[in-house]
Amino acid sequence: MNVTFWGAAKTVTGSMHQLNVQGKSYLLDCGMYQGRRKEAEERNGKFPFSPNQISAVMLSHAHIDHSGTLPLLVKNGFNGPIHASPGTVDLCRPMLTDSATLQEKDAQFLNKRYVRRRSINMNGGQPVEPLYTTVDAEATFALFRPTTMHTPTEIGPGVRYTSFEAGHIFGSTSMVLDLESDGRKVRLGFSGDLGRPGLPIVRDPEPLPAVDYLILESTYGDRVHEPIQSVANKLADIVNRTYHRGGKLIVPAFAVGRTQQLVLLLHELTNAKTIPRLPIFVDSPLAVNVTEVFRKHPELFDAETMEFLNRHEDPFGFNRLTYIREVEQSKALNDLRGPFMIVSASGMMEGGRILHHLKNNIGDPRNTVLITGYQAQNTLGRKILERQPEVPIFGEPMRLRAEVQELGALSGHADRGEMLEWIKPIAAGLKKVFLVHGEVDQQTAFAAAIQSRYGIEAVSPERGESFDLAT
Ligand SMILES: [Zn+2]
Repeated sequence: MNVTFWGAAKTVTGSMHQLNVQGKSYLLDCGMYQGRRKEAEERNGKFPFSPNQISAVMLSHAHIDHSGTLPLLVKNGFNGPIHASPGTVDLCRPMLTDSATLQEKDAQFLNKRYVRRRSINMNGGQPVEPLYTTVDAEATFALFRPTTMHTPTEIGPGVRYTSFEAGHIFGSTSMVLDLESDGRKVRLGFSGDLGRPGLPIVRDPEPLPAVDYLILESTYGDRVHEPIQSVANKLADIVNRTYHRGGKLIVPAFAVGRTQQLVLLLHELTNAKTIPRLPIFVDSPLAVNVTEVFRKHPELFDAETMEFLNRHEDPFGFNRLTYIREVEQSKALNDLRGPFMIVSASGMMEGGRILHHLKNNIGDPRNTVLITGYQAQNTLGRKILERQPEVPIFGEPMRLRAEVQELGALSGHADRGEMLEWIKPIAAGLKKVFLVHGEVDQQTAFAAAIQSRYGIEAVSPERGESFDLAT
């Protein structure tokens, strides 16, 4: 009985952990690695195990860095069930379809360039195939098994899975795995991505029951966020300042979670007349589809959002807001004068329509780029967050003159104190903590904090490292 860490090992993306019990293999998450292009292609293109030997997948939530290579797993022979909460299952449909479409478009673009270069006898590399297609994504949906939270489910011999609210995004879960092998019983916990208590829309993270071992995320293992209560004031200041300059507010946001939270906050601020009524465009076909999934699952809202709904207000569609699906409409925003706000994906600014908006707007000091989520190393988002004077967009260096602001409190990830509080009720019984989903400096500091506060050993597994789960 052991666990091997294949992704999110000393990094924040590509979450994937392999569990072996009674001779069978299982995956916890099957996420896409994001970072430098070459490295990402290599990592994502090939699994370090045979997909057809995996018996089942247990998926913590729908974010692509946790779910994004599921269609590739299926394409390569995996045929077992994928267990996830009903909200996650519904979110995965638009998200994986969108991801497959991006892969297809990427390959199309590269192949056009290949044909063009070959026609003039230039070395254009090799034709490429998409990582996976919408057909592979479609085959994946058939394998999903919506599994309600708090319902223990037998996954295989000696493996029982129970999931709990993680408070990170819609439908996100932490999980407990009751494992049994050779008469030994072990309980393994997996935090998934852990949210902050008090975040708008989603419910608060639930504590886990006692476990022997815990796989714990550590995105902000060495950071303390601003209190959630400060978000509204800070957001209002940023909106007002940009508005009075006649500027545009460019908000790169993950299609899931942050977009809907921002929209809800802006709605409240506009109602309270704290900010002027400025036009807001949510420019992401994915955000539009995802918002529809949100509407379908009111049971996953927190009490505040429920109250909003009960007053017959639509938290995601107030009248100053325009959802944009079509590319032409998106392009038309280039010619529109400010002030207004554009919310668009991707959140780490690695692809999608946000790149066009950044290209057109970061050179103007009247504008503001508002960052709401984690920016991984080597992403464009990280470079902008660090306010580098020049940043590359579509391979061209661009001057960064716009104001850059960060709304860390809206982060979907718990900070150091919140994570320490989350493990407090189970700390006494923990034998070991495996830190994943964090960069090295965050993990080192967080391991020390866990050790000094609770006296528990916390390790940061290398990619490919295995640990025996002995009782
Ligand atoms: Zn996530």
